Amino acid sequence: MWKEPTLYTRATLYASELSLRTAEPPSPNRISCDVAVVGGGIAALWCARLALARGLSVVLLTDSVGGKQTLAAQGIIHSGYKYRGNSATAMRTMPARWLALLSGVEEIDLSDVDVIAPAMTVIDTASGEATRLEEPVVDVHSLMGSLWRPLTSMTISARVRPTDIDVSDRGIDVIRTPTATVSAKRYLIGAGAGNDAIAAALDTSIQTTTRPLRQLVARSQSPVDPIFCHVFSGGDDPVLTVTTHSIDGATYFYFGGGVATENLDEENFLESAREEIARLLPTLPGDRLVWSTIRRDRSELQAADTRELDVMLRSAGNATFCWPTKLCLAPRLADKLTDFWPEGQPRPTVRLDSTATLEPSPLPFARERSP
Ligand SMILES: Cc1cc2nc3c(=O)[nH]c(=O)nc-3n(C[C@H](O)[C@H](O)[C@H](O)COP(=O)(O)OP(=O)(O)OC[C@H]3O[C@@H](n4cnc5c(N)ncnc54)[C@H](O)[C@@H]3O)c2cc1C
Repeated sequence: MWKEPTLYTRATLYASELSLRTAEPPSPNRISCDVAVVGGGIAALWCARLALARGLSVVLLTDSVGGKQTLAAQGIIHSGYKYRGNSATAMRTMPARWLALLSGVEEIDLSDVDVIAPAMTVIDTASGEATRLEEPVVDVHSLMGSLWRPLTSMTISARVRPTDIDVSDRGIDVIRTPTATVSAKRYLIGAGAGNDAIAAALDTSIQTTTRPLRQLVARSQSPVDPIFCHVFSGGDDPVLTVTTHSIDGATYFYFGGGVATENLDEENFLESAREEIARLLPTLPGDRLVWSTIRRDRSELQAADTRELDVMLRSAGNATFCWPTKLCLAPRLADKLTDFWPEGQPRPTVRLDSTATLEPSPLPFARERSP
């Protein structure tokens, strides 16, 4: 039977009504799904596609589709050969696994992704030997387009701020965005450099490290022979890793490896790196190239042992944070997320009028320099 509220309960009711009215403005749209994924790079899109492949309803929340580190990647499906100074056993099976994915016979169908080289070449400057290394190279932009297309109508364009997350003792309760409030059974956080702030909102000890990188890029407007190679000069790590990309009628050489790391002053870096590259690759048509650099931060889990190169996962209640460590390791997410998937009857598929678009490749650079 209903009873007249006492002064105390009346005050509490009023206070809770007030907090509902002030702290929680009515949400324009409340969405329930099985899995909410935060991020737009390889980690997030891969996990969102895995959820779809398993018949679950998915919502993707991201402030850029294609990723930050991901779209800057060279697209090499590493076998671990280049990482001789680390433990890279997880990578050994990746080239074969990607070949199956690229032929369309796996859980995620990547048969429409452009493969820009079937293999890399290993050049040893000491012996002068060149050997074939079974590491295919994919066009990262076409990969991200292929992963994202089936997720287009499940994407919300939003940067998730810590204050947008309601936390409860089960982990994340809801994520609020200007267009919708999303409630999911499980949350997958694959936001790269953004993982840290979201982890802090959940009051976890999970921390991301950021390693800055300046990658050298050279453009040729006239036709040039493509180069895909790792160059070793005695040490465990390659001094140079070169890939070639065609964009809008121009050819871009992308230089990773030792030459790309830790050199953060652009002026000095460009001069010394170009000299080093001309010495290591005398066949490169240096006089026909326009040079520039791309700055990117690599974001990885702050872990005790960073010599093991593998996918990293950490859970906090119903939220799982992930760092793929390398683009090529994305298929390992399927192996590692075994306990993640929600059980029970799947919720209905979410269809939204999304305004999200795939980011352009960062390779056609704005600040160009002549030799
Ligand atoms: C120059 C370079 C070259 C590389 N080359 C290779 C290679 O050849 N082969 C290889 O295997 N690996 C390579 N890698 C490594 C690989 O690119 C990364 O390991 C991988 O791309 C990381 O993907 P990610 O999805 O975790 O992060 P990201 O690609 O950085 O994606 C993070 C996403 O989350 C979004 N986001 C961030 N915060 C929020 C937020 N609060 N709310 C909503 N969205 C948010 C971002 O906008 C972005 O879309 C390379 C890396 C670099 C930097």
